Amino acid sequence: MAKDSCDGCGRTVTVAGGIANIWTFGQDDGSEGSAITLEFEDGTDHLLCYPCMEVLPDNPTAEDVERLEEVDAETSRLAEP
Ligand SMILES: [Zn+2]
Repeated sequence: MAKDSCDGCGRTVTVAGGIANIWTFGQDDGSEGSAITLEFEDGTDHLLCYPCMEVLPDNPTAEDVERLEEVDAETSRLAEP
């Protein structure tokens, strides 16, 4: 397991490894690490922690990732446009 930082909020995360090609929103129990790399429909991929994934919309874009902010150790949020 590698240590890295979330592309959204910038918090230090532990990477489960591999790229998830399927949007597994809400299906992970968090036991495999605190972040995962997601491949978006626009072809980009982003390393995101679970709090960030929970606040992203169903079809996230790089713009949504840029709006992510860390709130505390447990949560993230999307900045107001
Ligand atoms: Zn994050």
